[in-house]
Amino acid sequence: MMTHVLAFSYILASVLFIFSIRGLASPETARRGNVLGIAGMALAIGVTVYSPLVTDYLPVIAAVLVGGVIGTYFAVRVKMTSLPQMIAAFNGLGGLSSVFIAVAEISAGSDMLIENALGLIIGAVAFSGSVIAFAKLQGLMKARAIVFPGQQLINLLLGIAMIAVTVFFILHPDRNLFYLLAAVSIVLGFLLVLPIGGADMPVVISVLNAYSGWAAVGIGFSLNNVLLIIVGAIVGASGAILSYIMTKAMNRSLTSVMLGGFGAEAQQSAGSAAEDRTAKAGSPEDAAFIMENANKIIIVPGYGMAVAQAQHVLKEMADDLRKKYGAEVKFAIHPVAGRMPGHMNVLLAEANVPYEDVFELEDINREFATADVAFVIGANDVTNPLAKTDASSPIYGMPVLDVGKAKTVFFVKRSLASGYSGVENPLFFADNTIMLYGDAKKVTEEIVSALER
Ligand code: NDP
Repeated sequence: MMTHVLAFSYILASVLFIFSIRGLASPETARRGNVLGIAGMALAIGVTVYSPLVTDYLPVIAAVLVGGVIGTYFAVRVKMTSLPQMIAAFNGLGGLSSVFIAVAEISAGSDMLIENALGLIIGAVAFSGSVIAFAKLQGLMKARAIVFPGQQLINLLLGIAMIAVTVFFILHPDRNLFYLLAAVSIVLGFLLVLPIGGADMPVVISVLNAYSGWAAVGIGFSLNNVLLIIVGAIVGASGAILSYIMTKAMNRSLTSVMLGGFGAEAQQSAGSAAEDRTAKAGSPEDAAFIMENANKIIIVPGYGMAVAQAQHVLKEMADDLRKKYGAEVKFAIHPVAGRMPGHMNVLLAEANVPYEDVFELEDINREFATADVAFVIGANDVTNPLAKTDASSPIYGMPVLDVGKAKTVFFVKRSLASGYSGVENPLFFADNTIMLYGDAKKVTEEIVSALER
């Protein structure tokens, strides 16, 4: 009887997860998606704990308490701008738990050798790769690609070693070989992510996310747990689809990203050209004056808007310009703006910017040529024209928002510093650019008070 209840509940939980993902696909339905996901997970945990699979409650309660407290702490405390690191850390923990389960299963004499080996390999790569991704996003190490001679050869040899150890292990199931496999996979995970840098990090995060899902599938087979297989496959497949979308948005191929080396050289060429030029600075009052007289304004938000939490006052500015001055105001979002996919969409939705005012790159890029003002707030890399012209640049090939084509371009940022990829932006020195130096929220507040005077 209990097995039927368990099987039925697992199917129900899987359905809830599928509807959850569907809900998360659009900001309008995301809250409902979240609730469905929570319900699915609560059901899955509840029936598993209640089932005969669990014989000793103490470790389960201890694990739920420790994990729950840590998870709640981070969910409450982590700032929106640090979410990407948190995702990287959680991907890593997912991978690590697959490693632990695989090791425990093999130690307990499981004969599901291939399944456990797959769970171990993918989980270990996801774990160590995520450690590097976390360190890069958290600023604990340089975000740039780290390359050294012979790197790809070493990776190739490690890959071959990994396959060889797996085959040996399957032929002669020896626990020590399994530990060796774990060690090789962990080193490979480190080395695979080290050479990926700069603007390619979004792709890496979603690839690691997919890995943690596929690792769970392997473990699901070894534990003969249908729910783990289904959920792992959902995570793996959606991570793979997201990786595809991100590589397309970045104009890269997945193999070129995973082989790494983009963003390797520090970009100094534009920097030296920049030194003998000066950037024009303006005041918030100047910006208000120009925008009051503009017919069409396109706002381009980026990571700095998230840091400053300027989305609410930005919405106020857009409303003022529209209502008081009759301007047409649109928002343009680059697929990798911010530090995680959909980062800007979430913030603008939080500030109640209507979805119909928000446009993706390919839908709005042509309109900059007819705009009076491009108001770039805390964005940098996603506007950098070197991505089109400088083949040696680490962002070369990435599509960018053509803000330079607007009559006037405002850049709201604190300095002339470069963005995440470390590449100087020559647009700061263009004739039609005016820099509005300062914190994005503060500058926009000053513009709003000038508009409302
Ligand atoms: P960038 O990182 O290119 O630039 C952000 C700019 O914001 C900086 O130049 C900084 O300049 C400015 N800034 C920081 N704090 C503030 C503040 N308080 N007020 C005003 N300005 C501020 O951001 P973009 O959004 O243009 O591009 C995203 C980059 O991040 C891309 O290279 C992308 O590949 C990468 N990335 C994206 C991920 C994703 O999934 N979306 C994940 C990981 C990386 P200053 O210091 O002068 O103020």
